[in-house]
This record gives sequence, C-alpha cells and structure tokens, in this order.
Amino acid sequence: MTDLSGACGFDTRAVHAGQAFDPTTGAVIPPVHFSTTYAQDGIGGLREGYEYGRSGNPTRTALESQLAALEGGAHALSFASGLAAEDALLRAALKPGDEVLLGNDVYGGTYRLIARILGPWGVGVRVVDMSDLAAVEAALEERPARIVWVETPSNPLLRITDIRGLARLGRAAGALVVVDNTFASPALQHPLALGADVVVHSTTKYLGGHSDVVGGALVLNDDALYEQAKFMQFAVGAVSGPLDAWLTTRGIKTLALRMQRHSENAQAVAEFLAGHPKIVRVYYPGLPSHPGHELAASQMSGFGGIVSAALTDAASARRFAESTRLFQLAESLGGVESLMNYPDEMTHASVRGTELAVPEEVVRLSVGIESVADLIADLDEALDGV
Ligand SMILES: *Cc1c(COP(=O)(O)O)cnc(C)c1O
Repeated sequence: MTDLSGACGFDTRAVHAGQAFDPTTGAVIPPVHFSTTYAQDGIGGLREGYEYGRSGNPTRTALESQLAALEGGAHALSFASGLAAEDALLRAALKPGDEVLLGNDVYGGTYRLIARILGPWGVGVRVVDMSDLAAVEAALEERPARIVWVETPSNPLLRITDIRGLARLGRAAGALVVVDNTFASPALQHPLALGADVVVHSTTKYLGGHSDVVGGALVLNDDALYEQAKFMQFAVGAVSGPLDAWLTTRGIKTLALRMQRHSENAQAVAEFLAGHPKIVRVYYPGLPSHPGHELAASQMSGFGGIVSAALTDAASARRFAESTRLFQLAESLGGVESLMNYPDEMTHASVRGTELAVPEEVVRLSVGIESVADLIADLDEALDGV
C-alpha cells in the first residue's frame, strides 16, 4: 500500500490514502470485505494480521489509513458512531475520580455521555467557555483535569477557540487536549498540528458527507494511548461495519471539494441573513464582525458550512425553522443537502436547562452544496412569513 502520509497534498491523500488497488484482481476500488473471519495458515498463521471482524477488517483499515493521513496523525480508529469513538477514548483515558473540563457549547450528546453514563462510574465534569483562555487557565488551577475537551467551531454558536493556546495550557496542566473536529473537518483544520493530543470525529457529518452513514473516529499520535483506545475498540466492540466504513471512505474522496462549496455557500447565506431586518444576530466565523474571525482565519483554511442565527424570540425562530422548503427541517449536519435545525428542541434538547442550553431564539443551518441563489431565495421567502 502506498504510504501517502505527509508526502502529498491534502486532496491527493483524500483520494488515495488507504485506497491501493486490489492486488488479486486489479480492481481500482478496493472491495468491501464482509467476511467475519479469516483462514489461518496453520494455527496462529494470520495473513496481514486479520483474525476476526471485531478485531480487524481490511475495509475498516482502509478508512483508518485515510483518516490518519487526512488529519496528519500516526494512528486512527473508526467506530460505529461519533459517540462510540468518544466513549472508547474517555474510558481508555479516564479512571474513577478523574475530571473532564468541557467546552460550554459542545455537542449535547458529549455532555450527556460524560455526565450521565460516566458520571455514575466516578468521572466528574466541569464546564467552561473554552474561547476564554483565562477562564480555562483559572479552572485548571482550581483543580486538575485529565482531559480538556473542545469543539471549535462550536455547536451551534460557532465560538472559536485558540487550539494552540489551549494545547499549551493543557500540556502545562498535564491534561490531554481533545478537539472534536467534526464541524471544520480535516479539509479546513488540523488540530494535531496545532498541538492537540487527540482529534475526535462524528464521520456521520462532513466526512461521510451524504447523510447516509453513521460513524465516528479518533486520530492521535501517542502510541500508548492508541493501544489503550484500540484495546477498548476491540474489547467493547463498537466498530464500524464494512459497508459503513466503505461508504465513509467514498464520501471522503470528495471532502475537499465539498468543504470549499459548503464554505462559499455558507458565507453567502451568512451575509444575506446579516442584512435581513428580521435577523437579530448571525453566528458565522467568516463574518468580520464575528469575535473569532481573525483567530478562525489563522487556524482554519475556510470557515465551514454551519451558520446559526438569532431572531427576536422563540416563536419567530420556530416559525422560520418550519417555513423553509429547500432547507429541510432535520437533525444532523454536514451532508450535501441543506438542513434547518431548531437546537433548543432538536439537537440540543438533552442540554436544556443546563449550562450548555442554547438560546431559544436561535436556529442552526447546515448549508449544503446546492445553487446558492436557490438557498437564499428559500430563506428569503421563509423570513417573509415570520
Ligand atoms: C453528531 C456529532 C457528534 C456525535 O456523533 P454521532 O455520529 O451522532 O454519534 C459529536 N460531535 C459533534 C460535533 C457532532 O456534530
């Protein structure tokens, strides 16, 4: 298999890493390996290390090679969902009595996993605004944390955190710095190069890119932590199935092109909304008025496809969310089609009433790759009725 890590450009790695042609038939697209078990050449004589589908599968290996190459990491592991990846990492790295310092607008399911599943096993969680490094430093001085966990841009308010600065603080405090890179994707941001220890993905979103496969991944450099997380993947078993891994691999090949179009369309949508009288505030790091604009420009190569907007009140936000036609009202994000979300009652219902609650007047748009004039016309018409 050609080793493309580092040597080639990002777009070349996206197409070729882990994708060498099938040596038996010459098939340019590597086959999907459904077999759950592997014939041994004598007891223990494994070919290429494959033994049983939970411990390893060539289609999953292909995806993992691709993910490691894209994030510039030594190792990647792929899972049945983003939360399965998070769970494996958290259980590999934490023990009872440890604490996680969590950004205050991370994905609601991440908070729920730590607070409600790991909490009863003795893991603590504290929440802080990660875009305020002084607040992070104060929180770490007050009490150590084993993990510092950030999403940047964050969901759904698109806050931007200085990954380099956070990595410095985390390292000084002896904490692992984990970046959920789902929103930016490796096409726009490389947290490991900025000093983070682990990158987490919900590959369900931009990496898969077509809203047709649920998956998750970890990418990291540390050999010992990789072995622990890999053991967790094997011993607990939340692996990606072969067809899921293959679909994700196929999606990733067009990641760079898609992210470019998502970013262009989102910029146009954000500018349109910012100029609309019924919109009170637009959250998009590509707008110069966004407080994290300069920082985003310095650590990302594009601003991504998610735009959030505040209307005057909850009723207006709900009416807007229910009135678009091209933007379909649905959870999730990152697919080629545009989606509309009302976080308070949809994606972020699990954090209602907590420190992570999303303002009731906010809607979140996942801007797709359709013709941007059609997207803007759809939003304009929907706003007329608000
Ligand atoms: C969706 C999402 C997750 C969870 O991933 P699943 O694949 O749904 O388990 C984690 N983080 C972010 C930022 C997400 O958007």
